[in-house]
Amino acid sequence: MTAVTWTTEVDRGLCMGSGMCGGIAPELYRLDETDRAEPVHHRIPRDERALDAADSCPASAILVREGERLIGPRP
Ligand code: SF4
Repeated sequence: MTAVTWTTEVDRGLCMGSGMCGGIAPELYRLDETDRAEPVHHRIPRDERALDAADSCPASAILVREGERLIGPRP
């Protein structure tokens, strides 16, 4: 059986560099040299912290998908 993986991305045009995502999930998000967040890996194992980071992002810049379905930020 194939493990379910998620994908995650950061809209760098929206990111305001608060660093909150890296604080919540440092294995998943980091700030680059321009102080914009980027995912450490585009494909990730299911990880609730990705959803927590997406929910907490003040710019709604983090998207998490399971397949084509957008699952984060949560409504
Ligand atoms: S929480 Fe959102 S605004 Fe803050 S660094 Fe992460 S992606 Fe950027």
